[in-house]
Amino acid sequence: MFDYLIVGAGFAGAVLAERLAKKSNKKVLIIDKRKHIGGNAYDYYNESGILIHKYGPHIFHTNSPKVFAYLSEFTLWRPYEHKVLASVRNKLLPIPINLNTVNGLYGHNFDSAQLAAYFDQIKEPIETIRTSEDVVLSQVGRDLYETFFRGYTRKQWGMDPSELDKMVTSRIPTRIDCDDRYFTDTFQYMPLHGYTRMFENMLDHPNIHIALNTSYTEIKKYVGFKNLIFTGPVDEYFDYCYGHLPYRSLQFVHKTVDQAQFQSVAVVNYPNDQDYTRITEYKHLTGQEHAKTSITYEYPSWNGDPYYPVPKPENAALYQQYKLLTETLPNVHFVGRLGTYRYYNMDQVVAQALTLYDKLSGKKSVNEVL
Ligand code: FAD
Ligand code: UDP
Repeated sequence: MFDYLIVGAGFAGAVLAERLAKKSNKKVLIIDKRKHIGGNAYDYYNESGILIHKYGPHIFHTNSPKVFAYLSEFTLWRPYEHKVLASVRNKLLPIPINLNTVNGLYGHNFDSAQLAAYFDQIKEPIETIRTSEDVVLSQVGRDLYETFFRGYTRKQWGMDPSELDKMVTSRIPTRIDCDDRYFTDTFQYMPLHGYTRMFENMLDHPNIHIALNTSYTEIKKYVGFKNLIFTGPVDEYFDYCYGHLPYRSLQFVHKTVDQAQFQSVAVVNYPNDQDYTRITEYKHLTGQEHAKTSITYEYPSWNGDPYYPVPKPENAALYQQYKLLTETLPNVHFVGRLGTYRYYNMDQVVAQALTLYDKLSGKKSVNEVL
């Protein structure tokens, strides 16, 4: 009899397994239907000995000292500030849009004050910002929107930015200086020996039992458990009784090429020209030295593993129906990107899992959580 069965060995499941086992002395069984731990953050050395991310580039960044301190118990870090270029009109220009992006695209020689005045002139007045189209048009106007955002978003999400909640493109700021970092968080690091090693350290405890290649439906008949933590898709748990929540998927095409460097930065985005959205070269992230280099192309799709909850009003409404059902099950807890249908970064999932742990261990009341 386990105190907890935890479904999913990604960030949400691993954080809860670690806390419950180590801090609360609970007996935990953590399962994953995949053959590895780490969830979507899983990394491994490929056939050429290059460390790559199986499910696309994962860059750790957070403003939370608590999350950073917590994960630092399980890994050393490599400082890394992420840089992205967009391939548009036969040029490679910085994204998020900054001073060099606009000067490079149009051949201007603006300074920051001139760029601010230019944005004021070209931005479209939108009274209430609701959609991902509104966000960008209201900041940088139509040409920059169509050049950098419309095509990419249509490809990535299979729908127009005007159909998506504003939170999607709000992830990308607009800058009037030359700061070309993708993120500005206080803590920006990669786990020195990779994510999988960090997960191994989290789960290395006598109270934690791990079963891989094991799905919830197949194991639930055979094991006894008092409580369940479910980090898989919430609609799957309830047999899709209200219908399917949409998830956008990706097909990853991994390649290794016989050259030391493929591109000048870790990620190059292709908003308009290709079927893939972006190419990632891992050595920029990991700092690994190798005569060859490995890259990944991402092709968005509706088929495949559920990666992205799709932020739009009708999906939020459908999720609310499932959420009401979750509240009827006192010994079952839903957490993580799929369990709570939220477009969360890794650090947000860690924070959410730590908060749930506080509730389970009696440090916080039910109403304060999630
Ligand atoms: P997951 O990692 O998805 O783990 C859930 C696990 O549950 C999976 O391993 C799954 O196999 C398992 N599971 C599901 N159902 C069952 C079942 N029925 N039985 C058994 N097992 C089951 N975040 C960042 O902060 N920075 C980034 O740069 C970044 N890049 C990303 C790039 C891509 C392409 C994607 C898709 C996501 C990215 N993220 C990034 C987000 C990050 O992946 C998530 O925030 C995080 O991994 C979510 O952790 P989780 O535990 O909630 O879910
Ligand atoms: N986006 C875009 N063009 C870009 C980069 C991002 O249109 O060059 C939009 C797109 O809708 C994307 C969203 O901004 O899905 C968020 O980008 P982010 O890089 O955060 O996406 P993720 O890494 O989560 O896939």
